[in-house]
Amino acid sequence: MLRHVIIGNGPAGVVAAETLRRADPQAEITLIGDEAEPPYSRMAIPYLLTGKIGEAGTYLRKDDGHFARLRITLLHGRVTAIDSGRRTLALADGSVLAWDRVLVATGSHPVRPPIPGIDLPRVLSCWTLADARAIAASIAPGARVLQMGAGFIGCIILESLAAQGRQLSVVEMGDRMVPRMMDEVAGGMIRRWCEGKGVRVRTGRRVVAIVQAGDALLVSLDDGEALEVDALINATGVKPNIEFLAGCGVVVDTGVLVDAAMQTSVAGIFAAGDVAEAIEFGTGRRVVNAIQPDAVEQARVAALNMAGQPATLPGTFVFNVLDTLGLISASFGQWHDAAGCETAHLLDEARYRYLRLVFNGDRLVGANSIGHTEHLGVLRGLIQGRVRLGEWQARLLANPTLLSEAYLARGLAAA
Ligand SMILES: Cc1cc2nc3c(=O)[nH]c(=O)nc-3n(C[C@H](O)[C@H](O)[C@H](O)COP(=O)(O)OP(=O)(O)OC[C@H]3O[C@@H](n4cnc5c(N)ncnc54)[C@H](O)[C@@H]3O)c2cc1C
Repeated sequence: MLRHVIIGNGPAGVVAAETLRRADPQAEITLIGDEAEPPYSRMAIPYLLTGKIGEAGTYLRKDDGHFARLRITLLHGRVTAIDSGRRTLALADGSVLAWDRVLVATGSHPVRPPIPGIDLPRVLSCWTLADARAIAASIAPGARVLQMGAGFIGCIILESLAAQGRQLSVVEMGDRMVPRMMDEVAGGMIRRWCEGKGVRVRTGRRVVAIVQAGDALLVSLDDGEALEVDALINATGVKPNIEFLAGCGVVVDTGVLVDAAMQTSVAGIFAAGDVAEAIEFGTGRRVVNAIQPDAVEQARVAALNMAGQPATLPGTFVFNVLDTLGLISASFGQWHDAAGCETAHLLDEARYRYLRLVFNGDRLVGANSIGHTEHLGVLRGLIQGRVRLGEWQARLLANPTLLSEAYLARGLAAA
């Protein structure tokens, strides 16, 4: 009987445990998490903050007896080290657990840039349920809030921070909003949209110091501007939780390097989710693709292999759909111009509609969009399906909105 231990009980850990149970009815399965709550989804935190759901609404499995019924042992604790030779792992409380296969599904943690004042009480992250409680308790309706960072997560949480009449400002050090997901045109449109909703946005600026000034925080920017706010939200990015792997032989870069079977450099140790650096679809590069659908798919593949059922991921597909204060934007694959690629553009600034398609040869390899939600499924199908567009490439270069027609003519035929 195999002993499977899963470190991390977020979406990746939970789906891995359930997949393992289906694949191996006899196995011993232990799911370890270090947060106080039952397994939950961080994705649901914005809905919690706006009061659309309560805390229980964030739980990944709503039924109390779910894990017990599947004979999955939930263990509360923090893993501090793995011994690959002895096939054991150590927990912070001193206990030791033996394993035959282990999955690292430990996700990421928010980075804290080395800015004086970053540890002041009203400087908060928005990453965990504990963070959400702190935000709800300490940022009153109407308060002045500064958000540092306007990346993917930063834009997702804008709506919940701006709720209840709060005066929200954003400082982003990149030259535009969501710079790692959107080109200049799309980033500029998102900014204009946010400003239209009353959010003050500064790009190309850094916070250099935070000082307590009575009940308020005085935040200095690198251009000399000083902002007085009631709270600061740090949304400057996250880093995979890999520290406890030091010395166990698992090769790491930004995250844990895995092959197409989600196995690490050490046989029997797998990784999935925000902590994993997997092979990117279409490019073969390693990327950390920190979105929940990918975490879950990686976990499923890892678990099948742990149970001895060979499975591979054809490549982690980088795509993001973002709702910024009601404006839907998306980026797919190689949206940034790669050398030798052709691009097609369609822009309607006034109506907040933008499409940019990136072609390599007669294949669509990436896209950015604002609005155009009707095309998102087809865009994904054409890019992920590596569909050869033939004569449809020229038609799309002339008129990017012919995506559905191109998919019907070429994508379905290829499928
Ligand atoms: C506010 C917010 C909004 C988001 N919105 C979206 C969205 O709209 N769409 C989307 O796709 N993604 C979204 N995400 C990202 C998404 O939540 C992550 O991609 C997803 O949670 C990754 O799942 P995971 O299981 O890999 O990691 P996590 O969910 O981070 O779970 C890992 C767990 O492992 C625990 N852990 C870490 N180290 C140890 C250790 N040593 N021992 C024991 N336990 C440990 C952690 O505490 C954590 O509980 C959002 C994230 C946030 C914060």
